[in-house]
Amino acid sequence: AELDTLDLIVLAAILLGTLAYFTKGKYWGVAKDPYASAFANTNGVKAGRTRNIVEKLEETGKNCVIFYGSQTGTAEDYASRLAKEGKSRFGLDTMVADLEEYDFDNLDAIPDDKVIMFVLATYGEGEPTDNAVEFYEFITADDVTLSESNDPALGNLNYVAFGLGNNTYEHYNSMVRNVDKALQKLGAHRIGDAGEGDDGAGTMEEDFLAWKDPMWAALASKMSLEEREAVYEPIFGIVERDNLTPESSEVYLGEPNKMHLEGTAKSPFNAHNPYIAPVVESRELFSAKDRNCLHMDIDVSGSNLAYQTGDHIAIWPTNPGEEVDRFLDVIGLTEKRNNVISVKALEPTAKVPFPAPTTYDAIIRYHLEVCAPVSRQFVSTLAAFSPTEEIKAEMTRLGNDKDYFHNKTGPQFYNIARLLATIGKGEKWSNIPFSAFIEGLNKLQPRYYSISSSSLVQPKKISITAVVESQMIPGRKDPFRGVTTNYLFALKQKQHGDPNPEPFGQTYEIAGPRNKYDGIHVPVHLRHSNFKLPSDPGKPVIMVGPGTGVAPFRGFVQERANQAQNGAEVGRTLLFFGCRKSTEDFMYESEWAEYKKALGDKFEMITAFSREGNKKVYVQHRLKERAKEVNELLTQKAFFYVCGDAANMAREVNAVLAQIIAEGRGLSEQKGEEVVKHMRAANQYQEDVW
Ligand code: FAD
Repeated sequence: AELDTLDLIVLAAILLGTLAYFTKGKYWGVAKDPYASAFANTNGVKAGRTRNIVEKLEETGKNCVIFYGSQTGTAEDYASRLAKEGKSRFGLDTMVADLEEYDFDNLDAIPDDKVIMFVLATYGEGEPTDNAVEFYEFITADDVTLSESNDPALGNLNYVAFGLGNNTYEHYNSMVRNVDKALQKLGAHRIGDAGEGDDGAGTMEEDFLAWKDPMWAALASKMSLEEREAVYEPIFGIVERDNLTPESSEVYLGEPNKMHLEGTAKSPFNAHNPYIAPVVESRELFSAKDRNCLHMDIDVSGSNLAYQTGDHIAIWPTNPGEEVDRFLDVIGLTEKRNNVISVKALEPTAKVPFPAPTTYDAIIRYHLEVCAPVSRQFVSTLAAFSPTEEIKAEMTRLGNDKDYFHNKTGPQFYNIARLLATIGKGEKWSNIPFSAFIEGLNKLQPRYYSISSSSLVQPKKISITAVVESQMIPGRKDPFRGVTTNYLFALKQKQHGDPNPEPFGQTYEIAGPRNKYDGIHVPVHLRHSNFKLPSDPGKPVIMVGPGTGVAPFRGFVQERANQAQNGAEVGRTLLFFGCRKSTEDFMYESEWAEYKKALGDKFEMITAFSREGNKKVYVQHRLKERAKEVNELLTQKAFFYVCGDAANMAREVNAVLAQIIAEGRGLSEQKGEEVVKHMRAANQYQEDVW
């Protein structure tokens, strides 16, 4: 039926009413807090902001923009550090920019008295980070279409490039390499070398430091910059809000954004807007006394989050109370921890990385990575604020002398507060402007976990399998504890009846800001992955997943067992699993037997227990023992999957597979490796490693 005019008027009225309801007066002239940092409501993209970088540079009077492609925050952190250094040492007018927030078709209109820097992380199998996908596709396209018709196309563009990668992956630093190649092809001028940092070798920070000095020298000469004595200038101003208390409704106590503050959080849930999900079940998977592995079921039925088997879930952690206390204490802010402050960007292009007004306590607990290793460059920056001249000399030495720094700090697993406490010998570091921490420490990052359930079997209940990170440190009283996994461990203890869990002496604000996470909730978002079962369940699969690497394969096997129960023809399903001892850390032992009932002979689990018997046996040895069958299945187009430790296991499995193929098919070793490469390119060989 057609709508008549009256219907339309009624509909319009309802629509307006609904809008007014959902926007809660946001567009209706409600007074705005003049200090409140504009923080994204849903997805971080602010309306009305220009995507035109040329315009932005003109408007703000900048001559240097540092674009970052970042997944876990490190590239973003390096970008900020370059911006800061460019400004303080060379008087450049710098700005940092998220690649996602700009268009690139007018890169050729950037005048040649400006410089563009790219700090680019490579993610997973040589992929761009989520925020760099569009830029990457644009710049590496065969026919890049730019606004002017210069010849060469980017003849005006001066750029600098640094990549963050991991040499244990096949496509080491491919992001920076490919972007650099593409820019060269378009005639752009690179200043200095294209730097490469290697997380695999654990030298990322030092690679960055070693790269940037010659780069600055080259840039200074190219742009005739004069180096000056670096003076610290804060990027953020802290305004005490005496009229507000932590009870005031507009004060953020750790809520991730405005909707969470107002209690109106709604879809879309994503990396800027987590879903506060109930943990419906948690249990211990190990029988060993000294190690813990958590199984958790997270209920997403109250959201419209949807996952596919093989995807990742991100958990938003909170820092342990002891480390929050230690931090506040060493910088002399304990008394003021609950004072309300606003944080103002003193720089038009700087972004406050968390919502405000808020408290020091909330910033440290929910927003800054205060437990992470300390960067040497940050130590240099802080030296100027040392409590005494003697301490300043020590800080300066630590900042300048690479070996001294690593010998002194590395073995201790220092975080920033522990380092300052040790070097300061009990003195408080109250001279450090709080802005320095906002600039110099990473944003607290969500941690990813491979989902260990099948979306076919439990579409709204997401399982994770996580080993609790803990290491004894010689010469230190308390062991080192990972942030997220110990927070999850505390949640599990609470769920099992402990009202105030203190795993290993650490406490967490488990109920979250304003008790919003009470009843065992955890903030999460999802990330799609390419780690996927073949769409045809009849295809054979071979899975290699020792330790927590078995996580996604629990999902895979659960899925295939379900398909078999529903009458599908399921192909051969081989799972290579390894752990220390069958009696200690054999996770899901009884479950595998259940799946076996459903799958019968189709499913076989091949185990390697490294600490039973007198020789260490690992999954790659077992794989070798089954060479004949593995090779046969591969010729029947079996999919091959590896999950878990990127540094050693995944590499060795790759090598063993190449041998198996070479021997089984009478090929040279080199040809065997090529076959594996082809399998990777064709998605027949898939990795989910970390
Ligand atoms: P963190 O606090 O982040 O510490 C991690 C490590 O960093 C420490 O072990 C230490 O080596 C180093 N470190 C941290 N602080 C310091 C310091 N001050 N000094 C020196 N070194 C330091 N894990 C699982 O258990 N199961 C999974 O299924 C799983 N899937 C993953 C999937 C993906 C795609 C990725 C990227 C990772 C996955 N992980 C998984 C790993 C997981 O994301 C976390 O890294 C892990 O749980 C540790 O987190 P944490 O916060 O407890 O430890």
